[in-house]
Amino acid sequence: INHDAIDNDYVRQLDRRHVFHSWSAQATLDPLVIAGGSGCRVWDYAGKEYLDFSSQLVNTNIGHQHPKVIAAIQAQAGALATVAPAHANLARGEAAKRILARAPQGFEKVFFTNAGADANENAIRMARAYTGRDKILSAYRSYHGNTGAAIAATGDPRRIPNEFARGHAHFFNPYLYRSDFWAGDEQQECERALQHLQRVIECEGPGAIAAILLESVPGTAGVLIPPKGYLEGVRRLADHYGILLIFDEVMAGFGRTGRWFAFEHFGVSPDLIVFAKGVNSGYVPAGGVIVSAPICRHFDDQMFYGGLTYSGHPLAMAAIVASLDAMAEEGIVDNADRVGNGALAKGLSQLASDHAIIGETRGVGVFHALELVSDRTSRAPLPGAEMAKIKRALIDKGLLPFVVENRIHVTPPCIVNEAEVAQGLAILDEVLGAAS
Ligand code: PLP
Repeated sequence: INHDAIDNDYVRQLDRRHVFHSWSAQATLDPLVIAGGSGCRVWDYAGKEYLDFSSQLVNTNIGHQHPKVIAAIQAQAGALATVAPAHANLARGEAAKRILARAPQGFEKVFFTNAGADANENAIRMARAYTGRDKILSAYRSYHGNTGAAIAATGDPRRIPNEFARGHAHFFNPYLYRSDFWAGDEQQECERALQHLQRVIECEGPGAIAAILLESVPGTAGVLIPPKGYLEGVRRLADHYGILLIFDEVMAGFGRTGRWFAFEHFGVSPDLIVFAKGVNSGYVPAGGVIVSAPICRHFDDQMFYGGLTYSGHPLAMAAIVASLDAMAEEGIVDNADRVGNGALAKGLSQLASDHAIIGETRGVGVFHALELVSDRTSRAPLPGAEMAKIKRALIDKGLLPFVVENRIHVTPPCIVNEAEVAQGLAILDEVLGAAS
C-alpha cells in the first residue's frame, strides 16, 4: 500500500465495493471515513477532526489510542501473540484477577469470550446448566447482542427476523417517559413494573425459568435509568422463585456510569455479570462472564459445555490489564463521575430548557440520552428523516453522536474534559437550535 496516495475517496470506495455492513441495506450506505484518533478525537485523511461523543459503539471508555494500552498490546504481540484457551497464560490470569477485584464480594472466576453477544450466550448456558431450567426472561427494551440466544433475549425488534432460539420470554421494563404502565411518577412505574414482572414469572411458570437477564442500565434502548427500588425488587423476585439474576454490563460497565459497574448505584448484586466493551475499550475484541461462587462450585465437578478458540486471547488480555490499571491510576472512572454528572449533565439540562425539540434528557456519568420530539405535550418521537438531518449536521460540524431512533445518545469517553464537553454542547446547541 502506498500510504501517500490514500485519501477519503479511496477508502470510501474500497469499503463500498468490498465490505458488507451490519444492520444495513447495503446500497444506500455512505460511511464516514476514519483514519486515526487520540483521546476524545478522531480524524479523516483530509485532516478533518471529529469530537467522538459516541465512543464508537459506546466502547472507547479510555479514549482512542491510550499509549499504555497500545504499548501493552505491542509488548504482548512480541512475546506471544496467541495461545489456546486450555493453557495457563500470565496475561489471562492477571486480567481475570483485576476484573474480579472490581466485582462485588462472592464472585470468583471469569470466563472469557470474544465480545458481548457470546458472553450473554455463555451466561445463559451457565444459568440453564446450573438451574436445570430452560426459560430466560428479559426486557423488551434491551439489546443483548447478535448471536442465537443473545438476539432472542434482546427485546428490541431486531430480534424478530433472527428468532430461532427457544426458551425466551419478555417483559416490559421501567421507562417513565413512555410508561407502559400508565404511571405518573417513578414510584408508580417501579411498583407496576415489578407487579408486571411477577405476573410474567407466574404465567411462564417459575419452575421453568433459569434466569432473568437485564441490562443494569439499558443502553441502546435509551439509557433507561431504573427507578429507585426496581433492581432490588427484581433481585427479591429472583430469590423468591430460585431464579438466577444476570446483569448485562456490556455497555454500562467499566466506568460508563461513573462507577466500575452500573449496578453499584443500586446496591444490588447479580449471580452472573456479563461484560465486554469498556473492559479494554475494544482495542482488541473481548468479553466475558464473571461467575459467582455457588455457580463456580457447581462447575467444579460438572462439565461446562462451552468454549471458544480465542477465549482469553493474550492480546485482548494484555489490553484489559493495561486498561484497568490506567483507568485506576489516572482516576478515569472518577473523571466520568465528576465531568459526566457535572458539566455534561448540567449542560444537557440547559439544552433541554432552551430547545423544545428535546422532550427529556436523562443519564448518569458519561451515559446520557436526549429524547427528541416533534411535540412536547404528546411526546411524539421526532421522525427518522429529521433525525437523519440532525445527525448529518452534527457530523458536518465535527461531532460524532450515537443516534438511535429519535434519540441522541451522548456517550463520550470517560476521559472527556470540561473543554471538550463545552465544545460538544456548543455544537448540539447550534444544530438543535436550527432544527427547532
Ligand atoms: N449487551 C449490551 C448491553 C450491548 O450494548 C451490546 C452491544 O452493544 C451487546 C450486549 C453485544 O455486544 P457485542 O456487540 O460486543 O457482541
